[in-house]
Amino acid sequence: MKTRMSGWLLAAAAAGAVPMWAASPIRVMLLDGEQAGAYHAWQETSPYLKRMLGDTGIFQVDVVTAPPKDGDYSTFKPDWSKYQVVVSNYDAPDERWPDSLKSSFEQYVRNGGGFVVVHAADNAFPHWREYNLMIGVGGWRGRNEEAGAHFYYEDGKVVAETTPGNAGMHGARLPFKVVDRVTDHPITAGLPKEWLHVADELYGNMRGPGENMTVLATAYSDKGNRGTGHDEPILLVLTYGKGRIFHTLMGHDLAALNCVGFITTFQRGTEWAATGKVTQKAPADFPTADKTSTRAEYNPPADWVSPGGGRGRGPTAPGK
Ligand code: ZN
Repeated sequence: MKTRMSGWLLAAAAAGAVPMWAASPIRVMLLDGEQAGAYHAWQETSPYLKRMLGDTGIFQVDVVTAPPKDGDYSTFKPDWSKYQVVVSNYDAPDERWPDSLKSSFEQYVRNGGGFVVVHAADNAFPHWREYNLMIGVGGWRGRNEEAGAHFYYEDGKVVAETTPGNAGMHGARLPFKVVDRVTDHPITAGLPKEWLHVADELYGNMRGPGENMTVLATAYSDKGNRGTGHDEPILLVLTYGKGRIFHTLMGHDLAALNCVGFITTFQRGTEWAATGKVTQKAPADFPTADKTSTRAEYNPPADWVSPGGGRGRGPTAPGK
């Protein structure tokens, strides 16, 4: 037993999962409570996101669940200031939040609060301008060219395409290759430049103001899978006032979350948004350019099926 435990600890330490020492933990608010449809099952994804952060040993995570549609928002006043970073697994329409709540969150990030945007959190609040400045690009909920340009990567640089059209599309959920475009950022440093993500929605044609935004990584959106034919942003970092934002467009469902590439960049991105640094080492089980990598402890339950059905919907769906 002792040998097994030591072996496990050594392996975990080598994988960067167990820190050798821990300072006072980084306080994280994981925000959830609403998504546009059953296909984004926040009730089942939030515990996995919480566990990913907890497994690093450097975060203390509180889940804050916003009131549902038709809920009472008059008493929902999260104390943002208790947290170094807010992780959003939340997608609601513009009218859901009162102006006072919106401005309190703006003030939090502007004054240096960190913000992490996971997948459909970038569908939220299409006409809340400050929110869209934070996320850089978003999709669905009626977004079109008025939301901003479609940003993609071409010939070594980011292109802003302003042709009119709706924002947000994806094909069927398939594995896809992620290519790091900035390899010396704390979030991507030391990771393989190219790695294969597990089956997930590959968001394309996302639009927004794109200000103070750096595209850390892209993925090729294949026209053969109803894609754009462009290298679409898949990991972004931004600043808003003094606040740092990490935006991962991956993570549709439990199957998509179980990718060591997603887990690692999410753990690192949350630390970076909170502190501006990353102390977590690259794990030994990171995916390679042609091989995905999952962890047994993040497997969905045995009888699990992705909520809302098999193939992803097209660009006319209200939200994805
Ligand atoms: Zn999705």
